[in-house]
Amino acid sequence: MTFHVETLAVHAGMEPDPHTGAVMTPIYQTSTYAQEDVAVHKGYEYSRTDNPTRTALQTALAALEGGQHALVFASGMAAIDTVLRLIKPGDHVLSGNDVYGGTFRLFDKVLADYGIAFSFVDTTDATAVAAAMQPNTKLVWLETPTNPMLRISDIAAIAPIAHAQGAWLGVDNTFASPMLQRPLTLGADFVIHSTTKYIGGHSDVVGGAVILNDTAVYERLKFLQNAIGAVPGPMDCFLTLRGIKTLALRMQQHSHNALQIAQFLADHPAVAEVIYPGLDTHPQYELAQRQMQGPGGMISFILHGGEKAARAVARTTQLFTLAESLGGVESLIELPAPMTHASVANSPLAVNPGLVRISVGIEHAQDLIADLANALTHV
Ligand SMILES: *Cc1c(COP(=O)(O)O)cnc(C)c1O
Repeated sequence: MTFHVETLAVHAGMEPDPHTGAVMTPIYQTSTYAQEDVAVHKGYEYSRTDNPTRTALQTALAALEGGQHALVFASGMAAIDTVLRLIKPGDHVLSGNDVYGGTFRLFDKVLADYGIAFSFVDTTDATAVAAAMQPNTKLVWLETPTNPMLRISDIAAIAPIAHAQGAWLGVDNTFASPMLQRPLTLGADFVIHSTTKYIGGHSDVVGGAVILNDTAVYERLKFLQNAIGAVPGPMDCFLTLRGIKTLALRMQQHSHNALQIAQFLADHPAVAEVIYPGLDTHPQYELAQRQMQGPGGMISFILHGGEKAARAVARTTQLFTLAESLGGVESLIELPAPMTHASVANSPLAVNPGLVRISVGIEHAQDLIADLANALTHV
């Protein structure tokens, strides 16, 4: 029997505890496991290698993304770093040119020193991706929607371009979550998440995940997960699992609220530009309608008053907390250039210093609009 994703979010990976019948997966707060005989055990020997709470989370995430396998990590960056260990010196990675600041930093400031070549390309243009492929390209890496410009790339169009060259396609699906977009079903080889964001959803845990179908590549990544050891603890896995159960409801409310707020901002005289995949003014609106099941909860905008006005608004909102991160139940506001994307300053990926990014929470849309309306009177 196949289930809808909303049902999987509640049930996948959930087995009543065999010893007690506990309905919720216990937090197996243990580092080691008693063995019945020398090297004879129940599948768990040491918690860097495997832990039952982590197994439950991995099973749930694989089901949500429609993948065969999932591995979770101590952070989104740890997940990305572990995937990049599949790439060898002399190989080339083609990355989108609008990616999370920490991803750019890892590629450009860490991994480039180990003989891996990176180029940064506008992946909203599939022909630009095809033109930038090199004979040694092993991985095409993209975010869609991107952080912070919310650009959309055509996963189904780019997958065959990567595959024609024998390269993998990795998609950072953090902004959409599996409720709004399932890249593996569109041809991607890896889906990567910062589960810190929508999947966890409550701003109380940091984590990352990789979901894939290829069993041989999974075995290598599982080896790397254990060899490198950037694994999450059982409490973190429990919190993330707990978040997943309401992911479907939350994504609906994030999208519902964000669409109303984007329309409010677009009509406001102080606002010069609103970037939101759910507005028909978005350059990839048609693609977003086709590729995603909803526009999501992230909005970026630019004010006529530029950086000074942007700072004034970010300081003034009450419900929108001035903070980094995104995807939680509560609304957040930030300026990417000096905050989340400071690591791309003075690079080709540098962000407009006046750009404001909001993560729209699940509060009532009218209260959020009133908060922004009040803050905009200060510019
Ligand atoms: C936050 C984020 C990451 C990094 O994840 P952490 O959990 O903070 O390590 C990667 N990609 C995107 C799109 C993000 O928003």
